[in-house]
Amino acid sequence: MLNDLIINAAILVAFISVGNQVFRDSGLDERSPFLLRVLSGGISGILGILLMYYGMNITNKVIIDFRNIAIIIAGTLGGTMSIGIAAFIIGLFRVSYYGISDSSIAALIVTFLMDIGVSAIFRRQITMGRKWFLSVLYCTVISLIAIAILLWHDIPLLPTVVINYVGGTAIVSVVIYKYMKYLQGVTQLFKTLKEESITDYLTGLYNARQFNRVFDEIVGKAIEDQKMVSLLLIDIDFFKKVNDTYGHCEGDQVLREIGKILSHSCRASDMVSRNGGEEFSILLQDCSAAQAYETAERIRKIVENHPFKLSDGIEIKITISIGISTYPENVKDLRKIIENADNALYEAKRTGRNKIIFQS
Ligand code: GH3
Ligand code: MG
Ligand code: MG
Repeated sequence: MLNDLIINAAILVAFISVGNQVFRDSGLDERSPFLLRVLSGGISGILGILLMYYGMNITNKVIIDFRNIAIIIAGTLGGTMSIGIAAFIIGLFRVSYYGISDSSIAALIVTFLMDIGVSAIFRRQITMGRKWFLSVLYCTVISLIAIAILLWHDIPLLPTVVINYVGGTAIVSVVIYKYMKYLQGVTQLFKTLKEESITDYLTGLYNARQFNRVFDEIVGKAIEDQKMVSLLLIDIDFFKKVNDTYGHCEGDQVLREIGKILSHSCRASDMVSRNGGEEFSILLQDCSAAQAYETAERIRKIVENHPFKLSDGIEIKITISIGISTYPENVKDLRKIIENADNALYEAKRTGRNKIIFQS
């Protein structure tokens, strides 16, 4: 019996581990899209079938296993709809594989009651821990009632079955709940780290590392497909003065606001980054020099006219200088586009600021 218990627990752990890898980016819960919830129910149903298949045959009538945990997992992954689908698959398999008999009808009723009860518990606004506890308790009680009825003529077997079932369910449900919680924590941490590794903490724009990564990808693709690429390098004029006059925190607020203006002024396909300090960039794919100039001029004007509100209510005005370079109009070698735009920016600064320069 201990062997069967370990096999059941191993199946559960393996399913959860593989499922976590496959659906790591989807983040399954009851708010997931319809198809994902159907999939969660289907997979949990298959898990229930496996658990039944490797269940403990107490007599030829009674199999005990952890299909109830598969139903509770369905609730965790996709809410009541997934519970219903998992319970349906489990019930259908129980009857079609083991045939119609007293025990399979009893199992069908138990599965139906699990569906109703666990769904009701998962609809309640309580913590996931409580949902698990109440569901395990409820499923164990109704399963025990069914087992007791089926073993009515083998009463001496009952104490062993009850001890094994209750003990096994308690251990396995705690282990699986803790393991799922652990995996959720790891997945959340993974997502946060992934997000932070590509975004700038202050503005939420892409950071310099991500800019370089995407730039390398775009260079390869644009050369191959003979596509135009434009780059705007943007630098705030006299930003040091803002910091010196109003303080670093207010300077940060201006940077955040500039970040918003830049991302709202571009197409979704344009890549807006904060490359460092008060320097930003916009990488425009499939964009000619004339279109890039139009975008740059629009942004320059918006910033020039925008009142930057500081925390004490004071509004200040700032300006930006922009260097533009377009492949293949300005540079024949796309790898030189950054250097070229940088030279243009330098020229914009040198010749008066608050302006846009092309470097040919
Ligand atoms: P220019 O018109 O020539 O660009 O003048 P500038 O003052 O903008 O340029 P400079 O390079 O002399 O100074 C840039 C300033 O940007 C210096 C630094 O204090 C400020 N800065 C850089 N990073 C941050 C940041 O994350 N937050 C704040 N508040 N300031 C920053
Ligand atoms: Mg600068
Ligand atoms: Mg500057």
